[in-house]
Amino acid sequence: MDQLPDFPRPHGGEPWLLTPGPLSTALETKQEMLRDWGSWDGDFRKMTADMCARLLEIAGDHTGEFACVPMQGSGSFAVEAMLGSLVPRDGKVLVLANGAYGQRAVETLRYLGRAHVVIDKGDYLPPRGPEVAEVLDADTAITHVVAIHCETSSGILNPIEEIAQTVAAHGRKLLIDSMSAFGALSLEVGQVPFEALVSSANKCIEGVPGFGFVIARRSALEAAAGNSHSLALDLHAQWSYMEKTGQWRYTPPTHVVAAFLRALDIHAREGGVAGRGARYRENRDVMVAGMRALGFETLLADRWLSPIIVTFFNPADPAFDFNRFYDLMKTQGFVIYPGKLTVVDSFRIGCIGRMDGSVMQGVVDAAAHALREMGVASAAPPAQALAERARLAP
Ligand SMILES: *Cc1c(COP(=O)(O)O)cnc(C)c1O
Repeated sequence: MDQLPDFPRPHGGEPWLLTPGPLSTALETKQEMLRDWGSWDGDFRKMTADMCARLLEIAGDHTGEFACVPMQGSGSFAVEAMLGSLVPRDGKVLVLANGAYGQRAVETLRYLGRAHVVIDKGDYLPPRGPEVAEVLDADTAITHVVAIHCETSSGILNPIEEIAQTVAAHGRKLLIDSMSAFGALSLEVGQVPFEALVSSANKCIEGVPGFGFVIARRSALEAAAGNSHSLALDLHAQWSYMEKTGQWRYTPPTHVVAAFLRALDIHAREGGVAGRGARYRENRDVMVAGMRALGFETLLADRWLSPIIVTFFNPADPAFDFNRFYDLMKTQGFVIYPGKLTVVDSFRIGCIGRMDGSVMQGVVDAAAHALREMGVASAAPPAQALAERARLAP
């Protein structure tokens, strides 16, 4: 097997991005962007076809039942394209929300004028099969369920198989936002029943930002003609044009696609989903153990901690100031992420990107140094945050 590429400090001494995308990418990925491609040219059409075939392979589609449709823009554009195109105008959606991305799906459906209901679990808890079953039993108008695979705002890993089995048993269609999980956590069409999943270039495949992609049942795409509210985000139109011509409907992010192909090579070299997931788990384990040794506490119990991103409570010590902490981390070469929770103060550290355990140990050492600089004696969170956690997530 090929040697894993090293994890040198990113090119030009830039800091490591401990963020859930854009993230630190391999130098060889970035270098792919040094040449120009004509969007109509056969070479680029071949790159698009190759990319889609490889994504379908990662999704475990060996029968050709599914198709991959890339969509220009950030991940939210692809989510909106999926929702607006695959949910008919008279459809009704159940959104399983436990954080900002679930809420964004709700907001998107509101913009689209699609009927929807929500199971909102707050920040700490995953939606579970039985409560989904209860809502589906009670409301036969629901046609689709939207689930977030890894809710990146807290880092919670939702039980996607349990949800998928429930939705399938009730004869409804599941749309999965696997943005921050696809490529690192297994999600295969033969194992998890779903209608479509959506992800993007700049998450676990470790490409640069510029497009998302929807992997959908061909039958769903065929049925989607005329559903879309939007010309540019019409997934059916993008798919049928691509089937006919091999081209993207409007200007594609050519350099981003070239970089993404290289990122897919590296993904395969690393052992695909299993290899990538193993490295991210190692990243998480090194980082979480080190942070806990400093007194930090995770928002979530171990059982729901994803290998994608981890939320920590801010320390209670009045000497702790997040902005100062952020700056001190950045000076040492690590860009962290503020929290995205509604109730308690928190920050996040991502485990995804071109980093290994030794980089994550560097993060922990940098955090220890930052605490000393600020004069923070203990990184323990406020008692009230812990009480809240114990109450909501026993
Ligand atoms: C990153 C992400 C998105 C898309 O966010 P963009 O900023 O539009 O790329 C959607 N859902 C989840 C779960 C994500 O992690």
